[in-house]
Amino acid sequence: MSNVDPVELDKFGQLAHRWWDPNSEFKPLHDINPLRLGWIDRLCGGIAGKRVVDVGCGGGILAESMASSGAQVTGIDLSEKPLKVAKLHQLESGVVVDYRLIAAEDLAAEQADSFAVVTCMEMLEHVPDPASTMAACARMAKPGGWVFFSTLNRNPKSYLFAIVGAEYLLDLLPKGTHEWSRFIKPHELASFARQAGLDPVEIMGMTYNPFSKIYKLERDTDVNYLLACRKV
Ligand code: SAH
Repeated sequence: MSNVDPVELDKFGQLAHRWWDPNSEFKPLHDINPLRLGWIDRLCGGIAGKRVVDVGCGGGILAESMASSGAQVTGIDLSEKPLKVAKLHQLESGVVVDYRLIAAEDLAAEQADSFAVVTCMEMLEHVPDPASTMAACARMAKPGGWVFFSTLNRNPKSYLFAIVGAEYLLDLLPKGTHEWSRFIKPHELASFARQAGLDPVEIMGMTYNPFSKIYKLERDTDVNYLLACRKV
């Protein structure tokens, strides 16, 4: 396993027991989940009945919500504790997801061209070689299948909002959650996607208003954003 940063995995391991607490460090993931789920569902023409893999699924917030919407979901991650939490949570919720501790690159070798939808959200900024993860995501998708990514843009505003604002001023995320140098510009993400044989079809910004505490999907991709691609 080479495309892994153990320090990053450990950050998520330490907090994993609070993953499903909607008021914990994972509140932002809970808050954005309906937005991204709706966006994915709309673009892929309805997720129900589709085979989906969620790469870097953590405690399973997105994975479970896609399974609840009728998809047949596999969730993979390389951090043990979040996966344990995900497995425990599904006992409680009764939502079935197949969770596995396996690298994206390894699942891609095992199950190429297998999934109608691949999701990889808020994960690329934690891996040493995001292009390799994206290539693995592309490989797992069926021809014509959908691949969805989300990450953080890299510019002075994203430093101010995602690091200073979210971690230091508003306490939305623990200090040290993100390393700004690992953020990815949209043109870089799109170019990694193309190199992986994906066709970028829609880019969408996600904004947070600290006064209303509301997240929205909109044009502004300066800080958080998502990219939808199709496998050619
Ligand atoms: N995708 C989920 C969780 C995001 S948190 C969501 O959006 O709700 C980031 C996740 O990426 C953590 O669970 C962490 O363990 C995982 N991760 C980090 N590096 C990874 C790697 N190299 N391979 C697989 N998962 C990784």
